[in-house]
Amino acid sequence: MTANPTRLGAIREIEANEAPAAFFDVAEETGSVFGENVFSLSVMQKRLPRSVYRSVAATIQKGERLDPAVADIVAKEMKDWAMEKGVTHYAHVFYPLTGLTAEKHDSFMEPVGDGTAVWEFSGKTLVQGEPDASSFPNGGIRATFEARGYTGWDVQSPAYILENPNGNTLCIPTIFVSMTGEALDHKTPLLRSQAAMSQQAQRVLALFGHKDIDNVVSYCGPEQEYFLVDTSFVNSRPDLLNTGRTLFGARPPKGQEFDDHYFGAIPERVLGFMHDTERALFKLGVPAKTRHNEVAPGQFEIAPVFERANLASDHQQLLMSTFRSIAKQHGFECLFHEKPFAGVNGSGKHVNFSFGNGNQGNFLSPGDNPHDNAQFLVFCAAIVRAVHLHGGLLRLSIASAGNDHRLGANEAPPAIISIFLGDQLADVFDQVAKAGGATSSKQKGVLSVGVDTLPDLTKDAGDRNRTSPFAFTGNRFEFRAAGSNQTVAAPMTVINTIMAEALDFCATELEAATAAGTEFNEAVQTLLKKIIEDHGAVIFNGNGYSEEWHAEAEQRGLKNLRTTVDALPEYLTPESRALFSTYGVFDEAELESRFEVGVEQYVMTINVEANLTVEIAKTTILPAAVRYQTELAGNVAALKAAGVEADTTDLLAVTELVTALRTGLKELTDAQAGAHEHEGIAEAAYHRDAVLPAMLKVREAADALEDVVADDLWSLPTYQEMLFIR
Ligand code: ADP
Ligand code: MG
Repeated sequence: MTANPTRLGAIREIEANEAPAAFFDVAEETGSVFGENVFSLSVMQKRLPRSVYRSVAATIQKGERLDPAVADIVAKEMKDWAMEKGVTHYAHVFYPLTGLTAEKHDSFMEPVGDGTAVWEFSGKTLVQGEPDASSFPNGGIRATFEARGYTGWDVQSPAYILENPNGNTLCIPTIFVSMTGEALDHKTPLLRSQAAMSQQAQRVLALFGHKDIDNVVSYCGPEQEYFLVDTSFVNSRPDLLNTGRTLFGARPPKGQEFDDHYFGAIPERVLGFMHDTERALFKLGVPAKTRHNEVAPGQFEIAPVFERANLASDHQQLLMSTFRSIAKQHGFECLFHEKPFAGVNGSGKHVNFSFGNGNQGNFLSPGDNPHDNAQFLVFCAAIVRAVHLHGGLLRLSIASAGNDHRLGANEAPPAIISIFLGDQLADVFDQVAKAGGATSSKQKGVLSVGVDTLPDLTKDAGDRNRTSPFAFTGNRFEFRAAGSNQTVAAPMTVINTIMAEALDFCATELEAATAAGTEFNEAVQTLLKKIIEDHGAVIFNGNGYSEEWHAEAEQRGLKNLRTTVDALPEYLTPESRALFSTYGVFDEAELESRFEVGVEQYVMTINVEANLTVEIAKTTILPAAVRYQTELAGNVAALKAAGVEADTTDLLAVTELVTALRTGLKELTDAQAGAHEHEGIAEAAYHRDAVLPAMLKVREAADALEDVVADDLWSLPTYQEMLFIR
């Protein structure tokens, strides 16, 4: 056991932690609280006049425009409902480009001018808010002197009550735009992209002869990985506290090599935390369902049931903030950083997605008749085209300084975006591609044969491929490259938009062919064949972690955007500009602003990490090392004075490392000083190429010192302690 007072203190604190396993009453009827704090459709149905309810429901379910006349009535009922639940304030909640959640609280109270006040909430305040936009990242869209920004009610994402011991708040999910209508958030483009995708998908459905075509939506089920580390440790790790990851730390003697954590028994304290988070999420209507240990020690996963992408995205943000605050109540810090511990698996967020609607179901579900299958194959082929043409954008949508540590590090897919179809589906596409060249009568036969011989494509028909960034998993695709800290809105926006383009292409081809008299099945056959020929290069069923794949991918012409700095320029390519403007998702100014914000955030992240590296090395690690060096030197001197032969091996080794640490520090501060000579993306590249490697050099010396310096002098909690004690 360590005798270092800081670390010992932390361990004693954890031992003394008497937090109950779970705070809530375990006897409570399961599920009884679900949606309790949500102004849901069912609450609205009970409280709103029938015509008003119908109007709001049409907006929510069918994406119809909101009738402004109903806003006042909805607002009043919403306020009454909230006040019955102890709410005094409301907040427009939005998702600025920081990736965090922002909320501005206002009271329902309105002074009436005679010294008294009434409690009021008008339709106008429900529908629109006006926070100061200048304090949020905007990449040049907003000059500070014209700071106005607007929030607008997202009717499709229900209002909810956030409970807090210090007062409950009615939260209204909103979009956040500038005075000139430019998106300053993650939600606006997501909603725009949904609309674009829906429009094109409906054209395809019409071609397949569907009647009563509903608004199409994308669904998203995000699996969220996270670490729990005891607060007592985190408090004495300034790096974890400020950057979410450890900038120092020697590898523990025991890591994850035994594979003994994944799906293992969940520790009692952690289970208490999970119970409480799930209950809080249930109240908010977030369908948290699956939970288990993850691969790394101290790592866990939660997966809510999939929902419409914009709701899933809001719920995902809510989930992360709920986890953070409930973890604290249990004496934990919940880490969403992509790589909190070097040498230990990091955390991702798998974005499972599909498309569909109420009437026509899930379009990525193979179904069990040939007709369904043909439609399913068109949607899958559209995905193949979309991912092949716009792999760079998908890579961009999950780019961050944190995620750079994970991608391609043999724990997450590489930065090369490819598709895994599974043996069965790959084989079907193979047949389609090969059969296409036959005579026309045969072609028709082949299509039906191709489709008929499709073995019933059941869920889990194919094996899994953990190394693929984009894998078909039975009735959905799983985009596995997203980072744990990231909003799912960004990847879902790209997925919707690139699907809008691909479905547009499919619909246009099919429309043209049938107009020219080609039989529909034959037109489908030709289309599938064309897509597989043109875009099949993106399909890869092998091992994505292998070296050979990197070489092969290059031959196939697939992009390998290794770092965020490589990915950011994808915002500004002519193809991206054309794509996003055609489908009305981002205009030029918005793309440029997102590029700038991305660059800024990358530079800031590395810069803060570098500052902390210097501070911790100088004030914590170097002093410990020098003390130990002095102790060893004293020992050598004392032995010599006593006429005993002194072994100087340890002293020399420590001295060498102390010198390396000092040199590293000098190089790092020099590197930081040089940053001013660069600007924009060049400054980001400089941070990647000069600052990050210099940080790593400091870390190498420091971690080597951790392995030799006397344990009682080492005050930073170790990997072993942080990962295994809870
Ligand atoms: P696994 O670990 O096997 O991938 P999980 O149960 O952990 O599976 O998570 C799967 C996620 O995929 C869940 O969020 C689930 O709701 C979601 N999902 C399932 N079907 C669909 C679908 N059709 N569209 C989108 N997401 C889906
Ligand atoms: Mg899972």
